Amino acid sequence: MKRVYLLAYPAGHSVSPAMQNAAFAERGLDVRYEALEVPPAELPEVVARFRGNEVLGANVTIPHKLAVMPLLDELTAAAQAIGAVNTIVNRDGYLVGHNTDADGFSRALADLASDPSGRTALLLGAGGAARAVAFALLSSGVARLDIYNRTQERARALAGDFQALGWIEVVTSEELPDSVSSADLLVNSTSVGMEQGGVTEDISPLPVGVVPSGVVVDLVYRPPETRLLREARVAGCLTQNGLPMLIYQGAEAFKLWTSQSAPVEVMFRAARDQLVPR
Ligand code: NAP
Repeated sequence: MKRVYLLAYPAGHSVSPAMQNAAFAERGLDVRYEALEVPPAELPEVVARFRGNEVLGANVTIPHKLAVMPLLDELTAAAQAIGAVNTIVNRDGYLVGHNTDADGFSRALADLASDPSGRTALLLGAGGAARAVAFALLSSGVARLDIYNRTQERARALAGDFQALGWIEVVTSEELPDSVSSADLLVNSTSVGMEQGGVTEDISPLPVGVVPSGVVVDLVYRPPETRLLREARVAGCLTQNGLPMLIYQGAEAFKLWTSQSAPVEVMFRAARDQLVPR
C-alpha cells in the first residue's frame, strides 16, 4: 500500500482524508491518505521520511505551508510566486513542492462560467489563500485587482510581490465601498464568517450596507453560505462558496500523485458528506 499524508497542526476536522480516500477507492488504487498532526519542531524529520518509496506525497496546511519550502528539493514556479506549498510530490526520493490552490481557484471560477480576463476584481484578505487567488487572477489577465485587508501593510506587501504580474492596487477602508460597487468579481479570502470551534459568527467582511453587484466567491465553505454570500445572493449576484476550490485543489494534487485524472464528482460527494452538520 502507498501512502499520502496531510501535514497539519492541529489536524482538526479536515475534509481532505475523506475526499482523497474516496478518490483512491474510485480509481481502484491501493493508496491511503492520512492526516498527521506535526508540531513545527518535528517538521524536518517527518518530511525526510516522505522520501521513502511507499510515500507518493503529501498535502501541507496551516502552519507548515511556508516552513516546508526549504526542506524540499525543488519548487514549481507557481509555488515560488505564491510563496507557499500545499502539495508535495515524491519522485523517487526527490521532493517537489507545488501549490494547487491557484489552479483550484481558477477551475472553480470556470464552473461559474466567469472569465476574469479584462475584468475588475476586488480581493478581501492578504494571507496565504489571498496570495494564491491574486496569482490566479493576475495570471488569467484580470484588468485590475484591488486588495483590501484589515492590516493594510500586509495588503501592501502582497501588492508589491505581485506588481510585475499586472495592475494591482491597495484599497483603504474609505475607498472600499467604491471598489465593491465597481468590481465585476469579489473574492473573500479572509476567514471572516468561517465556523471556528463549532461556532459561526454571522458576520460579513464588508461594512454594513455595502453590497456587491457582480460575481461573489467566498473561500469559506463551512458554513456553506456565509453572510457575505447570503447578502450577495439576495442582491442578485452569482455566488460560490469555497467547496469547489477545495475539491479542485485536491483534484490537481491527486493527479500529481497518481498521474491519473481525479474523480471530482466522487470527491464532491465525500466532502459534502463530511460537511453535513451532525
Ligand atoms: P491566513 O493566512 O491566516 O489569512 C487570514 C486572512 O483573514 C488575513 O487577511 C486576515 O487579516 C483576515 N482576517 C482574519 N480575521 C479577520 C477579522 N476578524 N477581520 C478582518 N480580517 C480578518 O489564512 P488563509 O490560509 O489565507 O485562509 C483564509 C480563509 O480562506 C480561511 O477561511 C480558509 O479556510 C479559507 N481557505 C479556503 C480554501 C479553499 O480551498 N476553499 C483554501 C485556502 C484557504 P489580517 O492580515 O489583518 O490578520
